[in-house]
Amino acid sequence: MKILVTGGCGYIGSHTCIELLENNYQVVIIDNLSNSKKGVIDKIKKITNKDLTYYEGDVCDKDLLNKIFDQEKIDAVIHFAGYKAVGESVKLPLKYYHNNLCSTITLCEVMASHNVKKLVFSSSATVYGSPKTLPIKEDFPLSTTNPYGTTKLMIEKILKDLYTSDNEWSIAVLRYFNPIGAHSSGLIGENPNDIPNNLMPYIIKVATGELECLNIFGNDYDTKDGTGVRDYIHVVDLSKGHIKAIESITNTTGIDYYNLGTGKGYSVLEIVNTFSKVNNVKVNYKIVERRPGDVATCYADSSYALKKLHWKAEKSIEDMCRDAYLYAIKNK
Ligand code: NAD
Ligand code: UDP
Repeated sequence: MKILVTGGCGYIGSHTCIELLENNYQVVIIDNLSNSKKGVIDKIKKITNKDLTYYEGDVCDKDLLNKIFDQEKIDAVIHFAGYKAVGESVKLPLKYYHNNLCSTITLCEVMASHNVKKLVFSSSATVYGSPKTLPIKEDFPLSTTNPYGTTKLMIEKILKDLYTSDNEWSIAVLRYFNPIGAHSSGLIGENPNDIPNNLMPYIIKVATGELECLNIFGNDYDTKDGTGVRDYIHVVDLSKGHIKAIESITNTTGIDYYNLGTGKGYSVLEIVNTFSKVNNVKVNYKIVERRPGDVATCYADSSYALKKLHWKAEKSIEDMCRDAYLYAIKNK
């Protein structure tokens, strides 16, 4: 099968391309490099010793998408392309609505006109808003607290309406929890240019000396040590979930939703301490005010993905911390 991977040069997309190639799928990437570098393509080829096709361009560009679908015999699409910074989405909502919605609508239009109706979509646990109970199941009420999250929820609704209008579609919506870590080669990973918003990239920049001190946002939550608890998942485990999702949509139609997490919650302090221990490096931190909008605890019930996709996360929090740091020091 030939898979079009939008945003395939990005953090999760690049790891998923490796899994696809290693499972003998053919891969075509479209990426506009708005948050990634072209060099990733060669790294994917180096790790897998396999070739892939790359188109540089925007998923909102209908002419380019038509050209790709005319030239390549695409069987299914994994749609990663989009903006993802929560804080920026609050400041620049139109940028987020424009890119995330236009790319998805354009993609689905071109897919439909080429009779390609198999889609895996990158959604997020952010669509659960502030859940009333834990662990989070797929049928929990959905709500959002920022424009980024709203784009994900709107796209989920668009995809549902699309399926309702045309039952030939086969769509898997994957709701990711907190992906961290990197490929064990240390060649690809996550490396934001700006000051990171997320915990692991920030820890890394403190560990490598690029930033002085981690600000821990509150230690007065109702959690084991007062700091926020999240469901961190190794990006390679997450990527493997996409292979299972592709398999699940191959010979069927429908739309389904899956939590991809480990089902375990770790606090900020547990992450900091584990990172320091496995990498033998000091991470300076101080406790500061809570970050507005943060929930105390968030973790998944991923039993539906186990039941339906036969997928579960295998890697430990130690693996995540070790692999994330390996990538950082190899790419300093
Ligand atoms: P990323 O920014 O590393 O990758 C996204 C890629 O898409 C980048 O390479 C970027 O250049 C590209 N891109 C963006 N808009 C594009 C467009 N219009 N046309 C072509 N390319 C475009 O992000 P990621 O962490 O790999 O996330 C991938 C997807 O998963 C995103 O949709 C994101 O919202 C979602 N997601 C990510 C997380 C996370 O914590 N990383 C959590 C939940 C959901
Ligand atoms: N966090 C922190 N300092 C940071 C970044 C994050 O203490 O510089 C905390 C945050 O409050 C949350 C956890 O780390 O409890 C994970 O935050 P992240 O932004 O990575 O993910 P999200 O909140 O979106 O789940």
